[in-house]
Amino acid sequence: MNALTGLTLKAALEGLRSRRFSAEEITRAHLDAIESARALNAFVLETPDKALDMARASDARIAAGDAGALEGAPIGVKDLFCTRGVRSTAASRVLGNFIPPYESTVTANLWRDGAVMLGKLNMDEFAMGSSNETSAFGPVINPWRSAGSNQQLTPGGSSGGSAAAVAADLVLGATATDTGGSIRQPASLTGTVGIKPTYGRCSRWGVVAFASSLDQAGPIARTVEDAAILLRSMSGHDEKDSTSLPNEVPDFQSFVGRSPKGLRIGVPKEYRVDGMPPEIESLWAQGVAWLKDAGCEVVEVSLPHTRYALPAYYIIAPAEASSNLARYDGMRYGLRVDAPTLNEVYESTRAAGFGDEVKRRILIGTYVLSAGYYDAYYLKAQKVRRRIADDFDQAFGSVDALLTPTAPSAAFGLGENSSDPVAMYLNDIFTVTVNLAGLPALSLPGGVDAKGLPLGLQLIGRALDEGTLFTLAGALEQAADFKARPARWW
Ligand code: GLN
Repeated sequence: MNALTGLTLKAALEGLRSRRFSAEEITRAHLDAIESARALNAFVLETPDKALDMARASDARIAAGDAGALEGAPIGVKDLFCTRGVRSTAASRVLGNFIPPYESTVTANLWRDGAVMLGKLNMDEFAMGSSNETSAFGPVINPWRSAGSNQQLTPGGSSGGSAAAVAADLVLGATATDTGGSIRQPASLTGTVGIKPTYGRCSRWGVVAFASSLDQAGPIARTVEDAAILLRSMSGHDEKDSTSLPNEVPDFQSFVGRSPKGLRIGVPKEYRVDGMPPEIESLWAQGVAWLKDAGCEVVEVSLPHTRYALPAYYIIAPAEASSNLARYDGMRYGLRVDAPTLNEVYESTRAAGFGDEVKRRILIGTYVLSAGYYDAYYLKAQKVRRRIADDFDQAFGSVDALLTPTAPSAAFGLGENSSDPVAMYLNDIFTVTVNLAGLPALSLPGGVDAKGLPLGLQLIGRALDEGTLFTLAGALEQAADFKARPARWW
């Protein structure tokens, strides 16, 4: 770490605006950090020339008094976002060297506000996974290690590259996406802050689709305020995405630092699952105590259909994925494996292009949508989804937000869960519910476990009420005073 890479986004923006350092200087500092952190495998593509061009343009705009909200801030982009003229792969072989002729709306919004792109970040293939091990580029290594151990740990997934890059000070912030937890679980495993906003806050246009009714973009950052700054730029109505919301985007940053006094917080009793490590239980209890100290009223609530959320998610998400991924047939994008007949081209391209987890999802999805099984699986899962959303509606009749753990464990070892898909899917037990209901949820670091690894707390809010989450997260961040950092070994 050097002085310019250790800054919060907020401090960096202040330094840039007051010309204490230039966009080019802070960009070079990050490019150096990235170069010396290749052992983390956080980036699938570094774009130093583009970064320096963008930084110089930012310096010119700052000099002209024309700085945008993120002017000169170097950030990373999950490789699920299409970036014009820059290879975008979704960490899949099937996209090969696909170079999009267009820019995703979320990244376009960030560049409009002056952010600088350092490169594309590693992730699970098509965002399917919780450990980054399904990436065609190999796993990301978590910058955190257990005390006294050299074991390589996962940064979580699917936005593992985003989370690791933020935690290791390689970027000031990063874009990420969350279909069932892929922003929040990696944030939890790396001591960073991540928010999945309300479904529709961010445009999905130009984001490679996994499960379109669940996918949402959001930021991973080092502080609650930094996440608020980034989310504001990323959000907004987009006529190119019919599910993007027409609502005005609030100044999320203005909610950080407000008093949460008087807010009612629910603790869902169904989130107290068997086998939860005692350290996570006690962090949760600590979170409750912090909110009470800040003047909140905390009550127990019930979300009775919680235990059906994971099975419903693992029907709906693969169903949508099997349909979305039908387009990768070797005809229009990326990889094509030649063969004598058209059908064989499709088959051999898809066989060679997709990894095992993606194939598993396509098989599950095709099965649950097939005639004869559709009603028993897909339709039933959709009904469960409605019930889960109703549970939240009911709870939000009497509370303003919910507090839960983000993930059922701290960072685990690479390879530890990869041979057992169901064990891996259990990582998403506290996160998938909000995707099914379309609600916003934020993860922030609350403390460390006995081995010194970070643990996250999750706040869940009403639709369109990210503001309350930022207020509560700001209060928790202050109370937790989380200062632990990964010891540099890379
Ligand atoms: N881990 C979940 C899955 O594999 C969630 C992934 C995500 O949010 N993109 O589906």
